[in-house]
Amino acid sequence: MSIKSTNPYNNQVVGTYTELNKQEIEQKIEAAQHAWLQWKKISFEQKSKMMIRLGELLLAEKEDLAKTITAEMGKAIKESRAEIEKCASVCTYYAKNTQEFLKDELVETDAQKSYISYQPLGVILAVMPWNFPFWQVFRFLAPNLMGGNCGLLKHASNVSGCALAIEKLVSKAGFPDNVFSVLLVSGKNVAQVIEHKHVKAVTLTGSTEAGKKVAEKAGSVLKKCVLELGGSDAYVILEDADLEQSAELCVNARLINNGQSCIAAKRFIVLKPIAEKFTQLFTEKMRAKTFGDPSNEEFELGTMANKTLRNQLHQQVEDSVKAGAKCILGGRIPEGEGAFYPPTVLINVKKGMPAFDDEMFGPVASIIVADDLNHAMDLANDTDFGLGGAVFTSDTEKGNDVARNQIEAGSVFVNANVKSDPRLPFGGIKQSGYGRELGKNGLLEFMNIKTVCVG
Ligand code: NDP
Repeated sequence: MSIKSTNPYNNQVVGTYTELNKQEIEQKIEAAQHAWLQWKKISFEQKSKMMIRLGELLLAEKEDLAKTITAEMGKAIKESRAEIEKCASVCTYYAKNTQEFLKDELVETDAQKSYISYQPLGVILAVMPWNFPFWQVFRFLAPNLMGGNCGLLKHASNVSGCALAIEKLVSKAGFPDNVFSVLLVSGKNVAQVIEHKHVKAVTLTGSTEAGKKVAEKAGSVLKKCVLELGGSDAYVILEDADLEQSAELCVNARLINNGQSCIAAKRFIVLKPIAEKFTQLFTEKMRAKTFGDPSNEEFELGTMANKTLRNQLHQQVEDSVKAGAKCILGGRIPEGEGAFYPPTVLINVKKGMPAFDDEMFGPVASIIVADDLNHAMDLANDTDFGLGGAVFTSDTEKGNDVARNQIEAGSVFVNANVKSDPRLPFGGIKQSGYGRELGKNGLLEFMNIKTVCVG
């Protein structure tokens, strides 16, 4: 079986790769285990040097790496460069902080000495998606390799070129062979990897459906998993918000990565007195965004990752309109070869429509009007998802209360867009998954939190 990646802008084949057979998968896992037995003994100082070097290489090779991302999944080239820079920052962060995060912690008990020690688990499988083909991998790779684990990457089939570029960079940075390696396998062959005795845990970022399959398999063989799945983030705009600024931030939050981000803003819940003004400002700003050849600097938005996903999104728009939503911008598939979808705004969105209930993974905004703050909170939380959320208000105390106590999600931001940051834990609740990536919490997910008592 071969795995192919195709440029979503011009339909040209970027690369064709041969899928590993059962025996080759077995060999790769054995090699990773062998590498781990040595890697777990390497000092933080040595690991830090390699990780710092990896960050430097990312920056030195930024241009070529960004082109690989854009060719495989259609992201605007400027966003691809920004993604590479963010990967360099996560390498530096864990190179500098892991030793401190993982130092022994003394706890007084009846014993002579008792403490908590953090030990690596072993070989960890990462099943990753195409939307941020470098960042999703690096936020797993940097903490885990620094923590003493080894990584096996099963990347989305359409970004195999990115996967192999990462593997090459890791090797060039001086990491020993098989500490981090790529498994070219399709989703349906992942079960064999999860079952393997040397694979100690699995992390997946992707759709809720894929997450459930991986969790089921991992559960059946009693292995830990971390799941970072879809989202339908609510951005709540209160009456006292700075509307111009909120509309600007909301448009950027909806359109990041051409709308294909788990933490992109998806439902805009606006209080009635400001709904008309906000909708007008928001729609003008959505209309002003340009889309075209993703490798051309001029355009702010590229294509979607492929035509299948684009057509699915369009179907969601059409079904929402049939159910009573009104499309006031976009909503039509442009002519031509590329997997484009225009910035689209739906109003009169209500529960029962795909634009309210499902994840809209593309540049489509749903505007929902709320009678008051309580109603807005009911609407925000009336979703199966719980990844991120935001609130816009000039009263930061009120904003803080909404963020802390009222919106049910893994991350809530006040007067700002939800984003991941190497210093802060990231993940969701409900159907958005469980477990955390990044921060100290993310690092600890795949460590054995060992209690040691002496005497
Ligand atoms: P998938 O969830 O299918 O793909 C994500 C990763 O999971 C890929 O590596 C994929 O491999 C793998 N995978 C798929 N099925 C299985 C399985 N049964 N067992 C193990 N691994 C599996 O996402 P799609 O690309 O199909 O996108 C569909 C939707 O998912 C999007 O519209 C969006 O809603 C959501 N999504 C969410 C993301 C997020 O950041 N949370 C990222 C990407 C998508 P392979 O490519 O070989 O199938």
